[in-house]
Amino acid sequence: MKAIDRALADAARQLDASSDTARLDAELLMAEALNIDRDRLILAPPDRDVPKRYWDMVERRKTGEPVAYITGRRAFWDIELHVGPGVLIPRPDSEVLISSAIEHFRDRDPPECILDLGTGPGTLLLAALDIWRDASGVGIDVSRRALSYASANARRLGFEKRLKLKLGDWAAGISDTFDLLLCNPPYVAEGEALGPGVREFEPDEALFAGDEGLDAYRVLAPQLPRLLRPGGMVAIEIGPDQADAVSALLARDGLQASVAHDLAGRPRAVLLTWAKS
Ligand code: GLN
Repeated sequence: MKAIDRALADAARQLDASSDTARLDAELLMAEALNIDRDRLILAPPDRDVPKRYWDMVERRKTGEPVAYITGRRAFWDIELHVGPGVLIPRPDSEVLISSAIEHFRDRDPPECILDLGTGPGTLLLAALDIWRDASGVGIDVSRRALSYASANARRLGFEKRLKLKLGDWAAGISDTFDLLLCNPPYVAEGEALGPGVREFEPDEALFAGDEGLDAYRVLAPQLPRLLRPGGMVAIEIGPDQADAVSALLARDGLQASVAHDLAGRPRAVLLTWAKS
C-alpha cells in the first residue's frame, strides 16, 4: 500500500470522531497538501511521501475548523472561490439562486447589470458574471475582510473590470437599477442550531439576524423595489421555514413573490418579479 493511501485511511480514522465527512475531508486536505485535484488523488494517488503540512491540516480539522478555511478554497457553481476565516463559506444551498436566475432569463435578454447584496467572498456575483459574460456587477458588503476576498477572487477570475465592490449597509446609497439582484443575507435566529463548526468558525454578521432571523429582510424590503429594472428578478436566500414570512415582507410596491427549493427539496429562496399590471 502506498504511503498516501495509508495516510488517507489513518486521517479518516482520526477525523471520524469530529466529522460526518471524515474520508472526504481527508481526501480534500490531501489533495490540497499535494497540490493536485481530488479526482487525480483518487484515480492515481502519487507514489510519494506525505507532506508534513498534511498532518498539520488534519490537526486543524480535528478542532472542527471547516475544510474550506484550511484549504483556503471552495467550489461554487462553475467557479472556485478563495476563502478564509472572517468570510462566509459558499454553500451548495445558495446555488438555487443561480439556477433560478438562469431559468428566469432563459427566454429573456440576458441581465446586463447585477447587484449582489452581502457578497461575502463574491460568491453569487462572480458565479453570475461567469455565466453572463457581457454583464457587469456591483457587490456590497459590510465586511472589509469579505471585500478583500471578493476583490482577490474577481482578479483571479479576470472579472475585475466588470465589477465594483463597495463597503456598505445593504443598498443604502445605491441609486442605480439592476436586472438581477442576488442576496444571501444572514437569516439564522439567535438560538437556532447550526451545522458543525458554523457557529464557532464562521462570521456572526453573515449568519445571525435577530430573534426570528428576519432582521435583514426587514431592512431590505423597502430598498428592493427601487433597485429592480422592468423584466428583472430578485433572488434572495431564506431559511427553510421562512418562506411565508419573507414573501410577506418582500412582496410590496408591485413586486410578486414565489419560492424556489434547494436540492433537498426545502424552500431556499424567495424570487421577486414585477407583477403584470
Ligand atoms: N445556510 C447557512 C447555514 O445554516 C446560513 C447562511 C445564512 O445565514 N445566510 O449554515
